[in-house]
Amino acid sequence: MTIANVVSVSGGKDSTATYLLALERGLPFRAVFADTGHEHEWTYDYVRGLPEITGGPAIEWVKADFSRQIARKREYVATHWPLHHVEKSVVDRAVALLHPTGNPFLDLCLWKTRFPSVKTRFCTDELKIAPMFHAVQRPLMEAGHIFISWQGVRAEESLARSTLSRFQRINPVPYSMPKSIHSLADAWRAYAYRPLIDWKTEEVFAFHRRHGVPWNPLYDHGMGRVGCMPCIMVKKAELRSIAQRFPEHIERVAEWERLVSDVSKHGNSTFFNVDDDPTMAGQWCDPDFDWSLEKTGIRGRVEWSKTSRGGRQYDLMALADLGTACNQWGTCE
Ligand code: SF4
Repeated sequence: MTIANVVSVSGGKDSTATYLLALERGLPFRAVFADTGHEHEWTYDYVRGLPEITGGPAIEWVKADFSRQIARKREYVATHWPLHHVEKSVVDRAVALLHPTGNPFLDLCLWKTRFPSVKTRFCTDELKIAPMFHAVQRPLMEAGHIFISWQGVRAEESLARSTLSRFQRINPVPYSMPKSIHSLADAWRAYAYRPLIDWKTEEVFAFHRRHGVPWNPLYDHGMGRVGCMPCIMVKKAELRSIAQRFPEHIERVAEWERLVSDVSKHGNSTFFNVDDDPTMAGQWCDPDFDWSLEKTGIRGRVEWSKTSRGGRQYDLMALADLGTACNQWGTCE
């Protein structure tokens, strides 16, 4: 059995430091980036440029494809929604719009007819873990390799990550896979290696400097994390920064909200779950409450981000999120 080292690259500082560390150790390794379709363009450029700047291995680009699931959903909506007394105009609108766009994040939401949320975080598994599993990990393990996943995870990032160990055996099968694939996992030998687990943020940046490698420019533009733009768990201040500096990304998500709303039964689907909406406290029962996307969608949340109310909510929920794919794999910074 031979060992296959694979570094998960996200374009963030921690995964870049992990890529640099693997290079420094002189081990053969592969690097893989999962394109969610929801990253800032600077992140794509950064990941594309990393091998040339560092002399490291090419970064394999993987992308989820939900064409089959959307086709099945379209069929289901056309045949089942009328049986559930959904208005014909709603069914027709959804059927007309349920077609893949080629953007993994948006297609995932069209298939699910909703956005992921803090409590139902299917995005990491479907957009990152599963595509990497299919393209890289499963073929390696089926070929008999011992798979070692190098993960740029640090203990100081969150309570959940502080409990992770430097090296441990893992179940490499994404949560969303059927039981038949999970049952294969016993025969596979897969390990997580987290060499940065005790590193502090400053050490990560210093490591970039030592290698003469710039970090993702988003960090110099007010972003504390690099990944989906924005992440469903974005901090309040960061949402405000994104809206100020990159308003086109807010507008893109607002457009996605309109599309996903138009394929949902109730005609309303918001990027940030309304259950978590700090602006709605005490207003649920108000018959005059404004449920429009302008109020409950991302634009409304951006307006809230400019206020001084309720700023820590998302951070606390993220801390409570133990045992998810994000934490196991560290694919979301
Ligand atoms: S970065 Fe956030 S929105 Fe993107 S996949 Fe990870 S948890 Fe989901």
